[in-house]
Amino acid sequence: MSNITVVGAGYVGLGTAALLAYLGHTVSILDVDAHKIAQLEAGNLPLYEPGLRELLAQVSHRLRWTTSYTEATAHADFIFICVGTPPLQSGQPDLAPLEQATDSIMAHLEDQSLETRRPTVVLKSTVPIGTGARLGQLFENYAARTCTRACPVVSNPEFLREGSALSDSLYPDRIVLGGPGEALERVQALYQPLIAQSFVPPPHLPRPKHCLPPTVVRTTHASAEMIKYAANAFLALKISFANELAGLSERVGADIEEVTHGMGLDRRIGTQFLSAGAGWGGSCLGKDTRALLHTGLDCGYEMPIVRAALQINLRQRRVVFEKLLRHLPQLEGKRVAVLGLAFKPDTDDLRDAPAHDFMLWLEQHGASVVAYDPVAMGRARTEWGHLRYLEAPDALAALEGADAVIIATEWDEFRALDWNNALRRMRTRVLIDARNIVPTPLETPAILEQIGRTALPQSVPESVLESAFLERGS
Ligand code: NAD
Repeated sequence: MSNITVVGAGYVGLGTAALLAYLGHTVSILDVDAHKIAQLEAGNLPLYEPGLRELLAQVSHRLRWTTSYTEATAHADFIFICVGTPPLQSGQPDLAPLEQATDSIMAHLEDQSLETRRPTVVLKSTVPIGTGARLGQLFENYAARTCTRACPVVSNPEFLREGSALSDSLYPDRIVLGGPGEALERVQALYQPLIAQSFVPPPHLPRPKHCLPPTVVRTTHASAEMIKYAANAFLALKISFANELAGLSERVGADIEEVTHGMGLDRRIGTQFLSAGAGWGGSCLGKDTRALLHTGLDCGYEMPIVRAALQINLRQRRVVFEKLLRHLPQLEGKRVAVLGLAFKPDTDDLRDAPAHDFMLWLEQHGASVVAYDPVAMGRARTEWGHLRYLEAPDALAALEGADAVIIATEWDEFRALDWNNALRRMRTRVLIDARNIVPTPLETPAILEQIGRTALPQSVPESVLESAFLERGS
């Protein structure tokens, strides 16, 4: 078993650390955020990820929490870099955290003056194409200067999805490794229990019925990095394509849910990531598609398909808000409920969440906003302090006396709501279902706008409009 250091205790770092400790390794988790490390040491998770708390508790005897590079890297056989690469204003990823982490690792190597033993550096953060090779070169330059051996660098992009991060890590579709051969072997050996699916699954994360062993893709740094960007850009394209079709469906009287179901049954296409709605959010699709565009531009190469995916995603948020304005053109003084703050269900991640834009625009239009999310309320209190909104303790309370509601995240809790009863709590029943989760037809008279399945507003029958605006209790 190996000594492993994981640098960065975010969604990826914590998932990676839990996985490696579960496979039997001793794992030191290092973060520059001392508050976060103190929280984790005390057994409190700074983020929401299903199953993570239980898995970390199960392997706690193999975990060390630290803010010290000296401590964390002293005996490391592998150093996994999982720091954030958030987008800069320009759309390029900010590589400062990665550079700081690398500098700190090198400073430690200098401190320790290690002559022979060198940890393998595994780059899990999503980075611009060329970064892994550049990092490898930096370590080689350092070794040449100090007459020591270089730390080999392996690019190992991460494909986990927030909300199912642990399942994705334990039962991956593929493991991509880029870099020099000998180092690839070492990292591949580390993942052998996953590759053979030979480990005993944690009780709360059983192996899926038809789980196949992952395919290992061994390649160069550049290809490994490009695979990550290409995969995210393609997923982004699928969502934006569904949203583009949704707009046309509304205009020609088609139902996008039936259209995407029908087209997705073609195995060459597949049904996943074809959900029309408010578009994607989160820390990856937007950031990675913009980074890919930038890489193209740096090479003098335009990528119009990727650009269009981004543009459609931006437009889609406005499409949702315009649906509300169509029915409530005067939002001043109106009470609007927003259900779902996280960018997707089963996470508390608020990065680039559509709900943020809806809440901002509502505020700008003079509406008073009542928000509810099953897990992200606490995070919103700290990260969205610039927005003005009231917190509701649950979805029904958010609807109480509201003039309209926007469903921004497709939490199961909202799917399961008895909408016919819930709508009766509202003052006027304007329901903007930006995730197409409300079962139709509704028995309670209401204006229901979904994405790509509602006819254009002119065709909403007058009688429905009238009854939808009746006072609550009528
Ligand atoms: P995150 O923001 O949740 O966590 C990053 C952590 O790194 C933070 O805790 C931060 O304090 C820490 N950090 C920053 N600089 C540091 C330094 N110099 N030394 C030590 N720690 C440092 O980010 P995340 O969502 O876990 O993403 C990490 C990387 O993985 C990104 O490149 C992201 O694009 C990629 N990725 C993310 C996901 C996802 O779903 N979140 C999926 C695949 C890939």
